Amino acid sequence: MSDQCIETVCQSCKKSIADQWGALSFPIYQTATFAHRGLGESTGFDYTRMQNPTREQLEYVVARLEHGTDAMAFASGMAAIATLMEIFGPGDHIIVDSDLYGGSVRLFNEINKKNGVEFTTADLCEKNYTSLFEKNTRAVYLETPTNPMMNVTDIAELAGECKKRGVMLIVDNTFLSPYFQNPLDLGADVVIHSGTKFLGGHHDTIGGFIVVKDEELDARLRFIYKTTGAGLSPFDSWLILRGIRTLAVRMERAQENAIKLAEYLKASRYVTKVIYPGLPEHPGYEISRRQSRGFGAMISFYVESKELVEHILKNIEVAYFAESLGGTETLITYPITQTHADVPKDLLEKNGINDRLLRLSVGIEGIDDLIGDFERVFEL
Ligand SMILES: *Cc1c(COP(=O)(O)O)cnc(C)c1O
Repeated sequence: MSDQCIETVCQSCKKSIADQWGALSFPIYQTATFAHRGLGESTGFDYTRMQNPTREQLEYVVARLEHGTDAMAFASGMAAIATLMEIFGPGDHIIVDSDLYGGSVRLFNEINKKNGVEFTTADLCEKNYTSLFEKNTRAVYLETPTNPMMNVTDIAELAGECKKRGVMLIVDNTFLSPYFQNPLDLGADVVIHSGTKFLGGHHDTIGGFIVVKDEELDARLRFIYKTTGAGLSPFDSWLILRGIRTLAVRMERAQENAIKLAEYLKASRYVTKVIYPGLPEHPGYEISRRQSRGFGAMISFYVESKELVEHILKNIEVAYFAESLGGTETLITYPITQTHADVPKDLLEKNGINDRLLRLSVGIEGIDDLIGDFERVFEL
């Protein structure tokens, strides 16, 4: 079934757990436990922390979308990343991209470091990584495009370097979603998602995923997943399943809007720089065209002054000033006080995250209203 179109996979159902009544909307199995008919006679489900039919259905769809052998659904993207980090221990070294979701930076610095894991930070898009591998390097961790600077790293090239050294490559694929990019196909070993974002797609739930293609790694992660108990609830699993049904049409429309909005912002005299991988002048444009099926719907841009930032955030009406991304509504985020508030100052400065940088998650509204709203605010 792996040769089905991605739009069809979004509607797919795991036959072995299909509902007995044929419900098209997969049921929410709102139960903590499952009754046994006798000793050694399990239905296949015993206790929801371990597994639940609704969560298993969601995991099945996400594994298919990312071309993995298994996916695990968690209570948040951070729960997924924290669970993955449990496989590393004292003395293990991990190379991480310098531009990452702020919550991931906080997890690595404040929790994993205390547990003895060592980190080296680098701009992986600059291909400066070969000298960073140490004898104890176990993994490389990155996002591409990155949050919020939209840096694009050549996944296949980096995967080649990792493979040579037996190092695990982990890619947070939240920004493009499996609709536009499949890192496992490019040589990555693990894919991470914040399911809160494009997969859920409606700003109404929190969730996260680990997707793998190696059975041994899968077994270790499944063990941690059932032991630490950060699995996604049945209801939230259902919400993300529902969101995924429209993933293809949402991504297409959001990207179409993003391209037009990026062009508009680029031409505006109030905007000093637009960073969007779909603009040909973006340094990652060619790599994106090779390794992804699209450029996504995330745009970062600088305006002239902090005062203009405040003016935009106060007066914008069609887009919402809010944290998060990937839903049907356009969100405008101020990384320095929101998503990246806990990132060390020197790293923010080095990456160019300053008080004039704004990030847009473009939604599926009418593009004339989105552009019209910015025109109105700029002229106010
Ligand atoms: C939001 C986000 C996360 C964290 O996911 P949560 O669901 O908020 O826990 C991780 N990585 C990226 C790129 C994100 O945007």
